[in-house]
Amino acid sequence: MKKSVYSICGMCTVRCPIRVETENNRVTWIEGNPHLLGGALCAKGSAGTALIDDDERPRQPLIREGGRGAGRWQKVSWPTALDYIADKLKGIKKEYGAESLVVSSRGGPWQSIFKTFCHAFGSPNYTNHDNTCGRNTHHASLSINGVGRKGFQYDIKNAKHLVLFGRNTFASLRIAENLQIMDMLEAGGRLTYVDVRQSMTGLKASRFFQVRPGTDYALLLGVIHEVLKRGIHDQAFIDRYVSGFDELRAFVEQYTPTWAANECGVKEKNIKEFVDEIAEDRPRVIFHPGWNLSRYKDSFYAS
Ligand code: SF4
Repeated sequence: MKKSVYSICGMCTVRCPIRVETENNRVTWIEGNPHLLGGALCAKGSAGTALIDDDERPRQPLIREGGRGAGRWQKVSWPTALDYIADKLKGIKKEYGAESLVVSSRGGPWQSIFKTFCHAFGSPNYTNHDNTCGRNTHHASLSINGVGRKGFQYDIKNAKHLVLFGRNTFASLRIAENLQIMDMLEAGGRLTYVDVRQSMTGLKASRFFQVRPGTDYALLLGVIHEVLKRGIHDQAFIDRYVSGFDELRAFVEQYTPTWAANECGVKEKNIKEFVDEIAEDRPRVIFHPGWNLSRYKDSFYAS
């Protein structure tokens, strides 16, 4: 029997909405939810059927027999596997205490299940991949804006200029956001892309800065210097909401576009042209924080 089912993609943590066709309980087709994404999905999401059909993936719990690397596995049922893990955890708790348990999950919408389990066990030690991923950007946003990086909604569709740092969004990222970027580009908006290498997103961008690894911060300092020098910032907003602005002005005084160009390996004239563009497009300019500025030791500042 054929069925059409609405679900969410599990191929990455974004969890895009999908529509799935099945026949006799086998998945035959996956596409983006037509009501929300017009059917679009990234390559990873579309390959979801391949994951299900992969006959080399474990299809039931396996318990290792013998030493590590021996390659011997015993197939067991789920109740047996759960009892096995529960016994191990009880033993660990008895010998080392509940706090010796650390639970790490992928993050995303189901992390509360993992957290609840961890806390019910008696350990506060829950973590997820975010700590080695977007955390610097998150903390930078918290310290500047009072809310983390996920506390914003971006009206990309109606923006005139979107600036991305290493956010290779067209390769495989939020589909809804990509559709908005396409709408923005079709309406004449500009996309500036900063990365250490060319990418699919860089190819679609109206401006591509190929910077030396770890120099995004230098580029941004040069841009801030030029913006303040030209006086194209929003003074009314700053007067009302910003503290420490004079310190920022004094700090970036030394970081000219000439200096930034030298650090980043890009042309000074291109930095100045970029500032011309954001001056023309303001206030509908989005510097998207993403999470790919989080990879360097100066990431907190760059973000
Ligand atoms: S970005 Fe791609 S892989 Fe991730 S949830 Fe959306 S469709 Fe799936």
